[in-house]
Amino acid sequence: MTALIEIKNVSKIYATSDDSATWALQGVSVNIEQGEFICAIGPSGCGKTTLLNIIGGFITPTEGDALLNGNAIQGPGPDRGVVFQEYALFSWLTSRENIEFPMRLKGVSKADRRAMSDKYLEMINLTHAADRYPGELSGGMRQRVAVARALVNEPQLLLMDEPFAAVDAMTRTSLQEEVLRLWEKLKFSVLFITHNIEEAVFLSSKIIIMSPHPGRIKEIVPVDLPYPRDRTSPDFGALYAKVNEAFHT
Ligand code: ADP
Repeated sequence: MTALIEIKNVSKIYATSDDSATWALQGVSVNIEQGEFICAIGPSGCGKTTLLNIIGGFITPTEGDALLNGNAIQGPGPDRGVVFQEYALFSWLTSRENIEFPMRLKGVSKADRRAMSDKYLEMINLTHAADRYPGELSGGMRQRVAVARALVNEPQLLLMDEPFAAVDAMTRTSLQEEVLRLWEKLKFSVLFITHNIEEAVFLSSKIIIMSPHPGRIKEIVPVDLPYPRDRTSPDFGALYAKVNEAFHT
């Protein structure tokens, strides 16, 4: 069976104004299978966002192939939902209107949009905040709305670029649990970028460890711990130590 995403020998070189070139990625190959939860970790500048942007169709590789269901990625599409670190909600739209926005672009009828936003507001436990504007929500609530907005077109792949980096530790833990709950229920695949090793071990079925200059995949670590995961268990600790060592050597 074809993988959902195939990245084959991809390199990305950015030209810069001082005539030097940055090898953001070099010779990167990785697949994302249906239903996988992949975390990409690595220090700043190792090409994580570049990889996500190539898969999202926002930029093209300099060399190599990026395929979605066996076809070259031509641009963004409703089959891929994206959540960024910064709250990218439209400040002039309510939670409900933000969630309905992608469906409006697709020409979904008002009644169907309403039914879907009801469903997703309930899924993220924000029915009570449907008519509030982003400025009236906490950081965690805003990211839950951003996740719902990314999921409302029922994408095959959810792309998340350090989505919980700006919220406090307790909110982060509950957002992690919430995203796992949605993933288990809706069965999309995930590419999740993080700096945080504990977050990667808690969430993912596979961890891609990257290194910079040029951006490369250093190691791919499968995580076969059952869900829900217990951060205090010896198995969790052992995997954390393994990933931590691979990250730092
Ligand atoms: P990460 O997400 O791991 O921090 P990025 O993919 O953002 O890494 O960046 C990888 C490298 O490419 C870095 O050295 C960064 O400075 C460079 N880079 C990223 N975007 C651009 C751009 N638009 N123009 C020039 N260089 C860029």
